[in-house]
Formats: sequence, C-alpha cells, structure tokens
Amino acid sequence: MNCPECGKEMTEGFLQGNTNSLFFNMQRQKSAVCGENGVCMAQGRLRPADFGGFICKECGIVVFQYKNSLR
Ligand SMILES: [Zn+2]
Repeated sequence: MNCPECGKEMTEGFLQGNTNSLFFNMQRQKSAVCGENGVCMAQGRLRPADFGGFICKECGIVVFQYKNSLR
C-alpha cells in the first residue's frame, strides 16, 4: 500500500496496544508491548488493540482496517 500523503511504499506491520499505550510493531508481539523498531503512538488509558496495517514513518500516517482484529 502507498502512503496517501507522500505516495511512497508504506511498511506493513501491526497496530497493537494495551490499557496504557498504543504502538505500531513491525513484528507482531504476543504480549502487546512495543517491539524493536516499533513506534509508540499514544499513551494513556486505552482498550486492548491488535490489528494488521501499514505505516509511513515520514508522514506519521497509519492505515488499518478496524474490522480485521487479529484475536
Ligand atoms: Zn508518507
């Protein structure tokens, strides 16, 4: 998938979170923690999340389908 902002190829990975933070991991983490090269996207009180998606680190854009939860 290409970035809707800059048009470059986006990196595929996993949007994962726990009750305290949300991150985009390049490798899916079983325990929903920020993995190597992961990007922390939010901190604060959240609900657990685990989705496949794409990221453009340059533009700060993440694209994911909220109906494709990986549970
Ligand atoms: Zn971009």
